[in-house]
Amino acid sequence: MLKTQKSFEQKEQGTLYLVPTPIGNLDDMTFRAVAILKEVDFIASEDTRNTQKLLNHFEIDTHQLSYHEHNSKERTPQLVEKMLDGETIAQVSDAGMPSISDPGVDLVKAALDAGIAVVPLPGPNAALTALIASGLAPQPFYFYGFLPRKKKELVEQLNECNKREETLIFYESPHRIKKVVEQMIAVFGPQRQIVLAREVTKRFEEFVRGSTQEVYEWLTEEQIRGEFVLIAEGNSEVDAETHETWEDLSLKEHVDFMIEEHNLPSKKAIKEVALLRDLPKREVYAAYHEISG
Ligand code: SAM
Repeated sequence: MLKTQKSFEQKEQGTLYLVPTPIGNLDDMTFRAVAILKEVDFIASEDTRNTQKLLNHFEIDTHQLSYHEHNSKERTPQLVEKMLDGETIAQVSDAGMPSISDPGVDLVKAALDAGIAVVPLPGPNAALTALIASGLAPQPFYFYGFLPRKKKELVEQLNECNKREETLIFYESPHRIKKVVEQMIAVFGPQRQIVLAREVTKRFEEFVRGSTQEVYEWLTEEQIRGEFVLIAEGNSEVDAETHETWEDLSLKEHVDFMIEEHNLPSKKAIKEVALLRDLPKREVYAAYHEISG
């Protein structure tokens, strides 16, 4: 069913405002964000203690309610009820845009289902801020967010990403970034251009631009600290014959492809192929060395 929203029409019921907050530099708070946070009846915050610091800084004394992934199920209907009664709510996450790898989407959906206007404010966001300084094609882009933690799923998802021509944007923690770039070398190859955007907007903001291999070496030499956005060039050869998906290759062809394309020693290529195909290493080894059973 088609629904239209006139955001600023007078209504009896309240409004849900989505308010981005700084990702590290308080000066990035907008005048409008401050005004809305002052004016609403409640602020639904991912972490009330964290947001209190922001509220203190801008002398905002609006009451907060916690709204995070562990209580969103109970909290969502309560917040919708308040808005149906005419109260206005601003939702904020710990940093950046609500809903972008952060809580928010459930409340947005529930508010829309209840016919409540959802009004977004523009503002800080780590992905887009990093993208515009990356030097890689700003569009089209594909925002992935956080990659899975388990190695098998990580490799699967990187393989899916490798079918894309768009610039790829990931969020990653400092503990895992090296592992992810290592896997990118195996899946994207050592020459793909990537950019690490570290501590964006903060005092130690830093950009590391280079090939997957070069960035991996940087990660090996440096102490890895802070928050990272990882941006990767898209695959420019998606349609080329050399980049047919591995499903079309025999095991031996697949190992040969990994050796040639990604410059891997045969042992490492066998390991990667086994991982990609979820097969025992010995099976790939046997096929590669044409050992018959
Ligand atoms: N909602 C946020 C946004 O709009 O960007 C993202 C929240 S997500 C839970 C946090 C992740 O965003 C971090 O792990 C990091 O990957 C990225 N991030 C947030 N702030 C950052 C910054 N100042 N510099 C680099 N990356 C940042």
